[in-house]
Amino acid sequence: MRAPSRWVPSIILGLLIFRPARAAEPFPEARLEDARAIRERALQDDVAYELLRSLTTEVGPRSAGSPGDARAVSWALAHMRALGFKNVHAESVTVSHWIRGDAHAEITAPWPQRLLPVALGGSGATPAEGLEAEVVPITSLAELATTPAAAVQGKIVFFTQRMQVTHDGSGYGTAVAVRGGGALESSRLGAVAVVIRSIGTDRNRLAHTGGMRIADSVRTIPALALSNPDADLLENELAAGQPVRMRMRNTSAWGDSARSANVIAEAPGGARAAEVILLGAHLDSWDLGTGAEDDGAGVATVIAAAHLIAGARPGPARTVRVVLYANEEHGGQGSRNYVNRHGAEIPRHVMAMESDLGAFQVLGVASRVPLDRLPVARAMASLLAPWGAQFLGNEAGGGSDVGPLGELGVPLLDVRTDAAPYFDLHHTANDTFDKVDPALLRQNVAAYATLAYLAAQYPGDFGRAPKPKRAR
Ligand code: ZN
Ligand code: ZN
Repeated sequence: MRAPSRWVPSIILGLLIFRPARAAEPFPEARLEDARAIRERALQDDVAYELLRSLTTEVGPRSAGSPGDARAVSWALAHMRALGFKNVHAESVTVSHWIRGDAHAEITAPWPQRLLPVALGGSGATPAEGLEAEVVPITSLAELATTPAAAVQGKIVFFTQRMQVTHDGSGYGTAVAVRGGGALESSRLGAVAVVIRSIGTDRNRLAHTGGMRIADSVRTIPALALSNPDADLLENELAAGQPVRMRMRNTSAWGDSARSANVIAEAPGGARAAEVILLGAHLDSWDLGTGAEDDGAGVATVIAAAHLIAGARPGPARTVRVVLYANEEHGGQGSRNYVNRHGAEIPRHVMAMESDLGAFQVLGVASRVPLDRLPVARAMASLLAPWGAQFLGNEAGGGSDVGPLGELGVPLLDVRTDAAPYFDLHHTANDTFDKVDPALLRQNVAAYATLAYLAAQYPGDFGRAPKPKRAR
């Protein structure tokens, strides 16, 4: 059907006149093009993969305060200098130092079986001859809180809760409480030791270590993690309804606090050089593997991303600062040290990002920016859309190292990657270089480089981050 010819032109005229003014785009198209160019370069760039090969081969495990930790600090200084970064230096950090010994455990009744445990980081030692006691299964800290002390006194508490596989890492957040607090709370009730089902999702027989809390006023009891298959075995023995007894021996110990360092390097900015875009990862690792995914991949990712930005044309307006944090794994002293030492410059920290979830598929980007800057964050995230990555809202947390900057109002961006494969390897002897997919590592570098470059070039300012809705 033909439209009446007389009013068609007036409709068109009306649309032209009343068309709402187009909102100002957060970035000029030319800057988005520059960022796309960095993204594409990153997808061809193996600086991160070669850094990670070097770190895992030449340094390997680097538990806080260990000789490997000291070698990692030297490694980071040398490699970031060789890549041409400016202001490369170490900032001394005092770290707690726990020394793993040997851990043995076996079920002695009703059916004797050897187990393959690992000590949690922070575990106390058993007496030299070991200890033997009855096993009491407890699901969670909530169940322990309602358990009478008499039920666990003199016994070994077995935390049975199983970690669920999730792509957003929430399964870890739920399950990890027993690792952190299980030994402490059980010791308060008079238990002699703790074993936990590993905070991990694989089905092989390698247990997952990780940090646990201690307190001066509470005896630090032995705490061992069992692999999922060993935890299944123990549950199957318990299911028979007879008393189950376990013998264990562990020789780990706390050493004196030790020296480590945050290692810092910069790609200097131009017109707004005093303003900082911070890219963080942690340099320490657990000692069982070589810390390839946790957090060697993060270390390699942020160095390689900043290196690409340093070489970009035009160069970054703001300074991009790499911070490799000390002792994320059982102390967080590097993160606190950075906030204390750099307190006066925190207002000039414009954006912070952290990589500590391995190098897996990029699923999306979350921000924590003032609500009126959300279009900026969305525009930045849209550059990762070709991989299917989505904008995931304004509740970014920043991770354990840069999270405290967010609490102080520094805007955050989280690159959210697939957490499901990560927690098969996390904190196990299997966390080694061969597990790292070079294509996924390049994709992670591309995500960090693209977002950090846009943050460095954003013509406006990001303001201060709103307080999180939930307690962290
Ligand atoms: Zn980590
Ligand atoms: Zn870790």
